[in-house]
Amino acid sequence: MDLLSDIKFFPGVGPKRADLLNKELGIKSVEDLLRHYPYKYVDRSRFYYLHEINEDMPFIQVKGQIVRFEKVGEGHAQRLTAIFTDGHGTIELVWFKGVKFVLEKYHTKIDYVIFGKPTAFNGRFNIVHPEIELVSQLPPPEMMGLQPFYNTSEKMKGSFLNSKTIQKIIFPLIQAIKTGIPETLPAYVLKKYALLNLTDSLVNIHFPKNADLLNKARQRLKFEELFYIQLNILQQTKWRDLHYKGYIFSEIGYFFNTFYKEYLPFELTNAQKRVLREIRIDVASGRQMNRLLQGDVGSGKTLVALMVMLMAVDNGFQACIMAPTEILANQHYVSLTEFMGNLGVQFSLLTGSTRPKERIVLHEKLRSGEMNILIGTHALIEDVVQFHNLGLVVIDEQHRFGVEQRSKLWKKSNELPHILVMTATPIPRTLAMTVYGDLRISVIDELPPGRKPIQTYHYYDTKRQALNIFIAKQVEAGRQVYIVYPLIEESEKVDLQNLETGYEYICETFPNYEVSKVHGKLKAKEKDFQMQKFVRGETQIMVATTVIEVGVNVPNASVMVIESAQRFGLSQLHQLRGRVGRGAEQSYCILLTGVKLAAETRKRMEIMVRTNDGFEISEADLKFRGPGDLEGTQQSGLPFDLKIANLAQDGKMLEIARNFAMEILETDPQLLENENRVLANQLSKMKTNTLNWGSIS
Ligand code: ADP
Ligand code: MG
Repeated sequence: MDLLSDIKFFPGVGPKRADLLNKELGIKSVEDLLRHYPYKYVDRSRFYYLHEINEDMPFIQVKGQIVRFEKVGEGHAQRLTAIFTDGHGTIELVWFKGVKFVLEKYHTKIDYVIFGKPTAFNGRFNIVHPEIELVSQLPPPEMMGLQPFYNTSEKMKGSFLNSKTIQKIIFPLIQAIKTGIPETLPAYVLKKYALLNLTDSLVNIHFPKNADLLNKARQRLKFEELFYIQLNILQQTKWRDLHYKGYIFSEIGYFFNTFYKEYLPFELTNAQKRVLREIRIDVASGRQMNRLLQGDVGSGKTLVALMVMLMAVDNGFQACIMAPTEILANQHYVSLTEFMGNLGVQFSLLTGSTRPKERIVLHEKLRSGEMNILIGTHALIEDVVQFHNLGLVVIDEQHRFGVEQRSKLWKKSNELPHILVMTATPIPRTLAMTVYGDLRISVIDELPPGRKPIQTYHYYDTKRQALNIFIAKQVEAGRQVYIVYPLIEESEKVDLQNLETGYEYICETFPNYEVSKVHGKLKAKEKDFQMQKFVRGETQIMVATTVIEVGVNVPNASVMVIESAQRFGLSQLHQLRGRVGRGAEQSYCILLTGVKLAAETRKRMEIMVRTNDGFEISEADLKFRGPGDLEGTQQSGLPFDLKIANLAQDGKMLEIARNFAMEILETDPQLLENENRVLANQLSKMKTNTLNWGSIS
């Protein structure tokens, strides 16, 4: 079988479904389809009795008969229920659609197997839209093993392309490949790690013969996935190290020393000192630095960045710091101005609002080298901005920058400048290894002295009155308040409406206070205007979407209210919370949700209430994102999809795969040896599918 052939010619697919599979899941070829692994399996070898079931069971299958049907309600609200019994108990089967079809197809007093998830409702168990099969038509017992479940999207389900359909499409494919398909790992690798071959792995990942083979298949496919990601990144890193030398900042000179001795308004925290030492070693090493500086909001990253930039200037290099928004760039400019006073370093701000006349002067000073430090937004990656000798790039809040924007910046220097990426979102170690390969990580794990930890509460939105009283108290005490609404792309319209309604509600409830309203759909100017009013203290309350997530610094704001908190991920909640607690006053974060919550959501809220520790939160966040989550990659910032490996669980295997990849590249860096041919082939296949990420991270 040709693995690369288009799925639209495959039985049961056709052009329409092929189009959907392509658009929704990126599946084009037979191989893609084979690599669309089930995300879970349900054991269909076991039948339950109805008196045994409870709500924690994900799926059950029961043998029995329908006692009677009942139609409830009228018109659109009509539903059909059936009472089903197995002689040990009863359960209600419920249909909201297809009533006529069900009544024609299924009858009382016939032996069926029903299959589905039981839920408790009004003191009884029911199954909504169960699968029903005739007992007389069940496959033989040895075929009733583990049934695969596949990811689909709402759109796909709407076109009847559900898990069951995908299973039906894949089944004959698996039969066809049983004779063997080309192996994607060298034989010596399979042997060394006792891995199952590719054919058997694919067969068993879709239709496991037994739990043991399923496990072996998973191990093999996970290893393969992690191994190739590492091989790819490490090879690119090697190439980069070979072709680029790092600038050498050999001395600690006048600016750094004078700043440290005479300008620094407070003692550095021990964490800041340690991080500065780590960076110092990097920039003096002759290798290009590629370092991620992690530190919770308010931990003093900007100061560290400034001191590293002074190292660059002391060694005759220019430095720049790039922020994701104009407001943030402004804030950096203001704090650098305060910190440096008349130290004598030339620095300037460049944003979208910089006047053309000023720009021309600035461009000239950058080209001549007269300007030492440039602070700015995306504006500083425009082609017209040319540096004399850019030695260091600091990027603030990295996740807001696209890969392409960053690669543009790299081109501003003959050699690659040293890179320092600052982020308040801690990246778990396994994730960092996967995405960045050799990126080093420095952590500021200590806040400057005197900060009070933020107190977090989870409120049901039925307690709005109490919350309003609390808000009023805080504002009367001179504080400011954020109220944040979710804005998710798919339901943008509804969300914006919620924000508007919320804004009106706040204005009505607090007629004496001034309220800012900010969301991403506003023109940049208007957004800035509204933000600045809040920054200057002219408005007491800011109603906003997550546009305020990153880096806004208003030390006087002491309350963060998050509406519909269940719709935010843990990391995002933590980011939002970080907008308060920046001053000397006690700060609060209020998570608002409805009363009815999924168990997982409740856990998320509990974690937020319990801890302020960004690392604990990001680890938990990673664990929460199950394999059924199609948006996983987007949230984690991964530039590729992980199909089967799970970074939260497979850390150990990742490390093994990584070490092995290193070993191979050590002896055969270009993968030219015969036995490594297959590695080189797979890698080039990967590269055509993904961005060249490693060379620019
Ligand atoms: P972030 O890591 O969130 O970027 P900032 O750099 O904005 O944090 O620092 C937050 C505040 O803490 C700033 O006002 C800064 O001047 C102050 N700060 C930084 N380092 C120290 C320190 N060692 N001692 C006291 N205050 C500090
Ligand atoms: Mg900051």
